[in-house]
Amino acid sequence: MRNLNRRKFLKGSAAAAGIGLCAPSLPSMLTGAAATSAVKPKLSQFDYAQVTLLEGPMLDQFNRNHKFFLALDEDGLLKPFRERAGLPAPGPVMGGWYNDSPDYDPPKNMTGYIAGHSFGQYLSGLARAYAVTGDKPTQEKVQRLVKGFSATVTEKFYQDYPLPAYTFDKTNMGLLDAYAFAADPMALPVLRHATDAVLPHLPAGPQTRVEACAVPHKNISYCWDETYTLPENFYIAWLRSGDPRYRKLAERFLQDKDYFTPLSEGENILPGLHAYSHVNALCSAIQAYLVDGSAMHLRAAQNGFDFVRTTQSFATGGWGPDESFRKPGSGEMGESLVRTHSSFETPCGAYGHFKIARYLMRITGDSRYGDSMESVLYNTILGAKPILPDGTSFYYADYNNSATKFYHQDKWPCCSGTFPQITADYGISGYFSAPDGVYVNLYVPSRLSWKQNGTRCTLVQNTQYPYNPEITLRLQMDKPESFAIYLRVPVWAGPGTHLAVNGKSTSIALRPGTFVPVRQNWKNGDRLEFTIDRPVRLSPVDPQHPNLVAVLHGPLALFAVGDVPSDLNRTQLLATTQRGVDDWQVPASAQGLKMLPYPAITNQTYRLYLPVTT
Ligand SMILES: [Zn+2]
Repeated sequence: MRNLNRRKFLKGSAAAAGIGLCAPSLPSMLTGAAATSAVKPKLSQFDYAQVTLLEGPMLDQFNRNHKFFLALDEDGLLKPFRERAGLPAPGPVMGGWYNDSPDYDPPKNMTGYIAGHSFGQYLSGLARAYAVTGDKPTQEKVQRLVKGFSATVTEKFYQDYPLPAYTFDKTNMGLLDAYAFAADPMALPVLRHATDAVLPHLPAGPQTRVEACAVPHKNISYCWDETYTLPENFYIAWLRSGDPRYRKLAERFLQDKDYFTPLSEGENILPGLHAYSHVNALCSAIQAYLVDGSAMHLRAAQNGFDFVRTTQSFATGGWGPDESFRKPGSGEMGESLVRTHSSFETPCGAYGHFKIARYLMRITGDSRYGDSMESVLYNTILGAKPILPDGTSFYYADYNNSATKFYHQDKWPCCSGTFPQITADYGISGYFSAPDGVYVNLYVPSRLSWKQNGTRCTLVQNTQYPYNPEITLRLQMDKPESFAIYLRVPVWAGPGTHLAVNGKSTSIALRPGTFVPVRQNWKNGDRLEFTIDRPVRLSPVDPQHPNLVAVLHGPLALFAVGDVPSDLNRTQLLATTQRGVDDWQVPASAQGLKMLPYPAITNQTYRLYLPVTT
C-alpha cells in the first residue's frame, strides 16, 4: 500500500465494490489515477488527444484501421461469449481463431483456436481511437460492446478453454481502456466480474510452457497459455481502479524465477522462448518497477530488451524467426533466411516493441529506444498489408532469400488484435513530455499541443523523413516561453547532420545516439530545420554469416527486387543511391539492381540479405 493515495483509493474501491456507482467525467478519468506508482519516470507520455497525425502513411494506416474496426458487426464480436454463456447468439460467425469450431485440431487446423481472444484488443483499439479523434460513434460502439459483453460474463466461458490467461489479459486491457479512454462507467464493474470468472481457471502462479505442458491436457494448445504477461494489465487495473486485488494478482503472476531474476543478472535466457509474448512480458517487469520500485525488475526489462535488440534482431528491427528466440553464436538467424518465411510476427511484435521501448524511454530518456522504434516503424509495420473484411490478416514479415508479402492462412489471428492498437498508439509514440520541455522522438508529420509553464504551445512537424532527410518544426504560441526542444539524433546519423533555428545554423553539437536539447526563449512562428545525414551502411545477418548483408540508408532497410547478381561486393552495395522518393539502385550491373523500402513492396519477390564476395 506504499504511496497509495488514501482518498483516491477509497473512491476507487467503493466503485469496484459497486457502492455508489457513478460515471466520473472524462477529464478526471484521464488525469486522475485511483492509485499512484512508487516511481515517477523522467519523461511522461502525452494524452492521445494531444498528438494529431498529419497527412502521411501513418495517418492513412490509423484511419483505415479505425474505420475497419468501427464497422465490425457487434453481434459477431459477441457471438463466442454469448454461445458459451448459453444465451441467444445472433449475427455472423467471424471464423478463423475467433469462434469455437468442431474443426479445431492443433497444430494442424487452428480454426477455432481461441474463441473471443481478440475482443478486448478490438475494444482497446477503438477506445484509443476515440481518445485520439473524439469521434462519438466510436465511443458509443465501445460502450455498447462493454454492455453486450457484461451480460455474457460467466466462468463457464473458460471451461474447456486452452488459453484462459491469454484471452483474459486482452479482455482486461480492453475494459481498462474503455474506462480510461472512452469514459465507460460500466467497464470497471464488468472487469471485476470478468476477473471473478477467470480466476478458477488460472494456475497458482506463472507457468512456463514446459510447466503448463506437465499438467494433463486435452491438446497441445493447453501448453501455450501466457500467464507471464498478466501482471502488466493487473498493475494498470490497480492503478486505474484502486482495487488492491489487482495488485496482488499482478504480484502472483510475475515470472521471477524462470525469467526476470536471470535476466536481471545479465543472463541471456531468451533462446528457445516464444518471442512476442516474452517481449510483452518485459512490460510486466516495468510495471513492477513503476508500481513497487523494484530495481531488479527494471534491470530485467532493460537487459531483456537489450538482448532482443542486440542478439535477436534483423536489420529491419524485427526479431524472432518462427516466433522463437535463437542462441547467439549459433548462426540460426542466418539459417532462418533459407528455412522459413515466418521471419517476424509484425503487428504483434511491433506493438510489443513500441510498448516496451516507450516505457524504457520514459524511464531512462535514452535515445536508443527511439532509434529502435523508428526502425520497426518504417521497416515493418508501415509495410503491413491491410486487414480484409473477412478477417484475413497480415502476420509474418518474410526475410527469406526468396520472399514475398503474404497474408496469414487463419482469419482473425492475434495480429488482427494488435494492429488497431499500434496504429492508435502512433501519435503518443512520437513525443514525450519533460518538466523542462518536450522530446521529439519520431520524425513524422504531426502536431503536438501542450502547456509549458502555463503557456499554450503547439509544435507542427512537417517531413517526408526517412525518404527525405529534412524535418521542419514550427511553433505556435500565445506568448514567448523558455523551454527545451529535445531532438533525437539517431545513432547512425552522419557528419552532415545539421540544425538551423529561424534560418541560422546553430553551433549545438549534434552527437549521434543522444537527445540534443535546443533551449531558448521560444516565440510564436519560430522554426527549426533539422536535416539528418543518412549514410548508406551494411549490416550482416549474424556473426556466423558475415557475407550476407542488408543495405541500410538511414533507418531504412532496402530490399532487392529482381535478379540478385552472384558477384556483388561491399563497395557496390555502399554505392547504393536513392533515385526517387522510394526507389533506390545498386550500380551493380548494366541495368542496376533495384532496391525498395518495405512499405513500397507490393507483389514482387524480394530479398533482404544479399551475398557479397568481398
Ligand atoms: Zn500476432
